[in-house]
Amino acid sequence: MTIIVAGGGIAGLTFALTCHEIGEEVHVYEAASEIRSLGVGINLQPNAVRELYQLGLETDLREIGIEAEEWALFFYGAHPVWTEPRGTQAGYNWPQFSVHRGQFHLRLLDAVRARLGDDCVVSDARLTRFENHASGVTAHFTTSKGKTFTQEADLLVGADGIHSSVRQQMYPNQGDVHWGGAIMWRGVSRCAPPRTRNSFVLIGGIKQRFICYPVAPLDENGETTLNWIAELRPADVSAIDQSDWNKPAKPEVFMDEFLDWDFGWLNVPEIVSRAEGIWEFPMVDRDPIDRWAEGRAVLIGDAAHAMFPHGSGGATQAIVDGRVLGAAIKAVGPTKTALNVYEARLVKPIKELVLRNRGEGPMGVLFNIEERVAAGHSLGDAIDENEIASFMARYKEAAGFARDTLNATPAIIEG
Ligand SMILES: Cc1cc2nc3c(=O)[nH]c(=O)nc-3n(C[C@H](O)[C@H](O)[C@H](O)COP(=O)(O)OP(=O)(O)OC[C@H]3O[C@@H](n4cnc5c(N)ncnc54)[C@H](O)[C@@H]3O)c2cc1C
Repeated sequence: MTIIVAGGGIAGLTFALTCHEIGEEVHVYEAASEIRSLGVGINLQPNAVRELYQLGLETDLREIGIEAEEWALFFYGAHPVWTEPRGTQAGYNWPQFSVHRGQFHLRLLDAVRARLGDDCVVSDARLTRFENHASGVTAHFTTSKGKTFTQEADLLVGADGIHSSVRQQMYPNQGDVHWGGAIMWRGVSRCAPPRTRNSFVLIGGIKQRFICYPVAPLDENGETTLNWIAELRPADVSAIDQSDWNKPAKPEVFMDEFLDWDFGWLNVPEIVSRAEGIWEFPMVDRDPIDRWAEGRAVLIGDAAHAMFPHGSGGATQAIVDGRVLGAAIKAVGPTKTALNVYEARLVKPIKELVLRNRGEGPMGVLFNIEERVAAGHSLGDAIDENEIASFMARYKEAAGFARDTLNATPAIIEG
């Protein structure tokens, strides 16, 4: 028997590599007919980077990504609010990496194929439903041409993203995704990085903001691939019909609001004008759930806990999920008990993290300030550095990357 993974995204492929490490047979079934380099930038926090290093992917991360150096918040008008070092600069044993999602995804795919064989990942295979029975699980798939087939397994791992079919079967009444009122327009542009070699920069507040950070090493001209997100809270909500990561958009839809966001050291109109493409995505998540497993089927990654990207934690937690599940399987085998161990460790804290991110996550710092300024305080009076420091410390603890805790904690899967 074997473990079946539905979904060949970051969660599914990292878990497949983990299965290889712990000696479990695994097959990944991916709905797309071809895995391509899609998406723009993501951040991998040190708790995920530790796991990727353990999977032997350090060289890949260094080749495609760039170590984060700084996290910097600015109020409207680019007024400085808060800066803090990140990754090894902040004393972590592991860096924080910024990478292009698509390039990282393809490196994971290469590693899976090299270690587990070309036939480990089956594309054009969409999971439609599953059946639990006494000794295993039956997974049903369909191809884009309508051909259907089934596979038997010890476990089915639903790594099928925010629109998960596995989760839909577990929670038939879950309804649609939850929209937080904002739209993100995302892109990457070739340009010089603002501030350090890799600063995460956020400018704005509740109503409007611009975020950018590099996702590639600098070239010989000092330029990088700068990932950016322009975010607005539109009055017209008709655009929120679908949460599709690949929905293209035109700059005219949002750029009027950013035309005067040229601060000298960071020029938003210039950055956006250099974009290789622009994609629109509504700020959506899903209500947290109390069970991630049903019989021998279990959820990981966005299928388990799609969250707002405020804390740059979606990919990080997807990686950590697969490692925690792998550790449980290593300890007790591919059994229902392993799923219970995994759930017991993660469901409660990640439920709290999803809700914390719904409440703006670390960007809540700016929102407190915006409320105080709106109530008549000067910007200087509205910024309380001690308050921000403890706010940020609490967030990192909740998201699993508090420095001292992480540095002192043994690896999830010990060698
Ligand atoms: C095309 C794409 C672009 C993205 N771009 C960004 C980005 O720019 N920035 C960002 O922060 N996050 C992005 N994300 C989301 C980000 O990758 C995830 O939040 C995070 O990495 C968690 O990954 P995941 O593997 O759980 O989910 P996902 O990355 O969503 O992967 C899920 C995978 O499952 C497949 N799938 C779906 N349904 C089925 C099914 N029924 N059967 C089999 N396979 C199925 C999907 O095709 C996909 O490959 C993107 C996701 C996708 C799919």
